[in-house]
Amino acid sequence: MSLSRRDFLRYGMAAASTAVASGGIDLSPVEAAATSLRIKEAKAFPGVCPYCAVGCAQLIYVKDGKIVDIEGDPDAPHTEGALCPKGSSTYQLSLNERRITGCLYRAPGATAWEEKPLDWMMAEIAQRVKKSRDATFVETVKVGANEVPVNRCEGIAWLGSSVLDNEENYLIAKLARGLGLVNLENSARLCHSATVPALGATFGRGAMTTNLIDVQHADVIMPTSNWAECHPVSYKWVMKAKERGAKIIHVDPRFTRTSATADIWVPIRSGTNIVFFGGLIRYAIESKKYFHDYVVAYTNAPLLLDPNLKTPAELDGLFSGFDPARRSYDQSTWKFQLDADGYPRKDTTLRDPNCVFQRLRRHYSRYTPEMVERVCGIPKELFLKVADIYCSASGPDKTATASYALQLNQSTNGVQQIRALCMLQLILGNIGRPGGGVVALRGHSNVQGATDFGTLYHMLPGYPAEPLQGPHPTLTDYLEKTTPKGGYWVNNPKFVVSLLKAWWGPAATKENDYAYDYLPKREKADAYSHQHFLVGMYEKKVKGFICMGQNPAVDSPNAKMARKAMRNLEWMVVVDLFETDTAAVWKEPGVDPKSSQVEVFFIPGAERQDGAAGDAESGVDGGRRSLRDRHRRRLEGAGCRSEILAGRGLLHPRRAGRREGRLDHQHDADGPVAREGRRAARRRALRRGVHRGRRQPRQGALQGFQAQEGPAGPRPRVGLPAPGAQEGAQHGAGAQGVQRLRDRRHRGQGR
Ligand code: SF4
Repeated sequence: MSLSRRDFLRYGMAAASTAVASGGIDLSPVEAAATSLRIKEAKAFPGVCPYCAVGCAQLIYVKDGKIVDIEGDPDAPHTEGALCPKGSSTYQLSLNERRITGCLYRAPGATAWEEKPLDWMMAEIAQRVKKSRDATFVETVKVGANEVPVNRCEGIAWLGSSVLDNEENYLIAKLARGLGLVNLENSARLCHSATVPALGATFGRGAMTTNLIDVQHADVIMPTSNWAECHPVSYKWVMKAKERGAKIIHVDPRFTRTSATADIWVPIRSGTNIVFFGGLIRYAIESKKYFHDYVVAYTNAPLLLDPNLKTPAELDGLFSGFDPARRSYDQSTWKFQLDADGYPRKDTTLRDPNCVFQRLRRHYSRYTPEMVERVCGIPKELFLKVADIYCSASGPDKTATASYALQLNQSTNGVQQIRALCMLQLILGNIGRPGGGVVALRGHSNVQGATDFGTLYHMLPGYPAEPLQGPHPTLTDYLEKTTPKGGYWVNNPKFVVSLLKAWWGPAATKENDYAYDYLPKREKADAYSHQHFLVGMYEKKVKGFICMGQNPAVDSPNAKMARKAMRNLEWMVVVDLFETDTAAVWKEPGVDPKSSQVEVFFIPGAERQDGAAGDAESGVDGGRRSLRDRHRRRLEGAGCRSEILAGRGLLHPRRAGRREGRLDHQHDADGPVAREGRRAARRRALRRGVHRGRRQPRQGALQGFQAQEGPAGPRPRVGLPAPGAQEGAQHGAGAQGVQRLRDRRHRGQGR
């Protein structure tokens, strides 16, 4: 039988004292100490630390409705009970005298807050939403000769957040799209926005490729951020790898605590990582340290490209097809050579000058050690030493992990920097193998979930694209243009139809294209982002703003302009724990409150320890997205409410008011109130404007979609053999080596 430390403290000491006391030793003082433990008789609820994307699991002890202690959960596999000082002090968010627990209202031009009941707030907010929506709603637009239903409201913006739960983000996405909102974002737009297109283009999805625990299996680890201090608990896996003999190479302009644990610190000029990664790619190829069998079997390196495609190495920085007058590309040469069946042709020897591998080699041929020294400021000798160590962690028996955080994301060429890192890992065979990976260290514990659940302007929950009015006027057009011919996303039509059915219920039928017209249609792709709608506020085109768990007065690019923009709004709703800079934007230092007419509704939010819902964390379980449930706890500040309730209240103000002051089990995400809220949201959305623009049912609207689902099923992804094939004997020592490595690691043997 195993006995945890907590069990021992709770039960063991009393039993031990009885046994020993019977032997003549008086342990009553010890027993008294045990009974005075804070957690005695407290009920433990699982939670997740909100401060960073390690998402450390917590046990939150609650007694008499109060949080009495927060500790790391020893059963969590990726943290094993650890919390860093930030995580240990999260109770200060719940028990904080500066936390606001009642609703506040700031009238136009007023110089102070007024306290208001929630009933009143919800009714007023609902009226503002309706007024702005009615004033800015666009039902149809002319696209060519056709009248296209767009059901779009550009006059309201909504910010979800990666500190909100999956359920909250999903309901925000559903409600916002139901209202026709296109200005919808979360904090992922500002932090790891470059990660998703880079990882998505390389691997098919935008999450990190491995999990944090697996880092312990690496032979070389290359952090490019201050991992030890910014994501501290997960750094234990780096240190475990080091105990096994792994080398740590820290690439950072600053010498930090991560540098102090590293074998080599590589000081690099800020913003030049792309040249450093390019230098490593060149070194790996020219010194033949790439993993040939892996590259042939698992990457598109052997595929043959159109001979007319020219790359920047051949055209002085431009790809073929550039039109200087229009400043855009004709992409007709950007394609593979196809065989008679429509599949890309291959050269598995990797010698054909038009294969992807040779193009890559030529492209990176100029990234010499001298260029790295000139651009990055890294001495040539140091670079060659580092390149040799890092690229040696390749082949069947070795792997390397590389990590990054915001320094790559926040660069003007952030996507290209991360993409270069991904390509380096691919040619070294460091993806999908124990100890290999690209680790994206994110800022909040639910960046992944907020993004998965669709609070971003360009996508719907689960990543189908938010439709555009030009190319996607009908569901058939939309599915034809957004569904690829190969790979996992051939299932896109199923995802979209399931979502439409979930949102519109019985109103979504095959005859009316599953009520596709109800979805708002964007005017163009380059619009409605965080930055775009702040400009809209500045120009007074966006009139209302709902902000939950984010502080755009501080975290926006050009924050001064962002604050001015928010002062131009007609109304703003802020749901947060404290009076944030955003909530107080009308009275910031140097601003005369009377000069701003923005009406502000402040609703106190629930802290993560108060809520009841789930997170999706890519770091815990790699790209597989571990869903972590957080259970209900009683809320300390009785007036605070989760964003689920605040959002639902907009749809049903009277019910929201009746529940003020309560946050019991009925308000759980799966409880009766939340369920009723979801039904109410659906009914309301259907009753309101989303019925506008309904068009006549059309037979056979999904013909294109159905045609793709032939009896043979979706076609396999081009260029990637089935995983089993890679492990077959045809790949010789490489594949056997992979299997040997896997067997050894599964047996728990180190190297
Ligand atoms: S490492 Fe991150 S998630 Fe874990 S306790 Fe510290 S701040 Fe919280």
